[in-house]
Amino acid sequence: MNDLVAKLNNEWQNLTPVEVLSQAVELFGSGLTLASSLGSEDQVLSHMLNKVSDIGDVFVLDTGRLNNETYDVLSNSQKEFSLNYRIFYPESQAIESYVMTHGVNAFYDDVALRKLCCEIRKVKPLQRALSGYKAWITGIRRAQSVTRMSAELVEWDDAYQMIKVNPLVMWSKKQVWTYIKDHKVPYNALHDLGFASIGCAPCTRAIEAGEDERAGRWWWESPEHKECGLHVKGSS
Ligand code: SF4
Repeated sequence: MNDLVAKLNNEWQNLTPVEVLSQAVELFGSGLTLASSLGSEDQVLSHMLNKVSDIGDVFVLDTGRLNNETYDVLSNSQKEFSLNYRIFYPESQAIESYVMTHGVNAFYDDVALRKLCCEIRKVKPLQRALSGYKAWITGIRRAQSVTRMSAELVEWDDAYQMIKVNPLVMWSKKQVWTYIKDHKVPYNALHDLGFASIGCAPCTRAIEAGEDERAGRWWWESPEHKECGLHVKGSS
């Protein structure tokens, strides 16, 4: 599989993100899906996928702790794009057990309990969302944080045993927002309030000028912990 990853990185390295998406649609067909947190990068990719595919498949993980603004952008996107939106929810018994055992906001108490909450609300639903697919698309950009600086355009995702395509990997935040404004892409109103990265309501805050783009995620933890288990670096 490493040969295919190297070949695609080589062949696609000079393509625009929309061209990369077009190539990925051609290569993986209905085996391709886009992971959307409904943040700025994922809205750009949804708009691009809507242009290049008649069978564009997008999934959203509704953790049960999202902001109302996030549901608004999901609703607007479902109306605007001809994409197949699949929405996944956590398993109710696991949530009930977690909340009754540890408390409704136990993720603030220690990293292990935060990761357990992410495991129940995000990682397990992600496994169901990716089941049966050959490749997934993400909005990861290198400039977002220290944990993403080594991301590649195409990677082998060891955790999910499939190809991962990051069409915006080399884009800046400015490029993302220029695209949104130029194409009038529906976006999450939280961005106008200083939220650079969108996640669950209790675990996301606005950032200050000069802060890392993911500084508002789990801000009480140290930088190396600032991933939720969805993006585990594999061999690329
Ligand atoms: S981001 Fe926070 S609320 Fe959402 S799943 Fe992770 S710990 Fe739970």
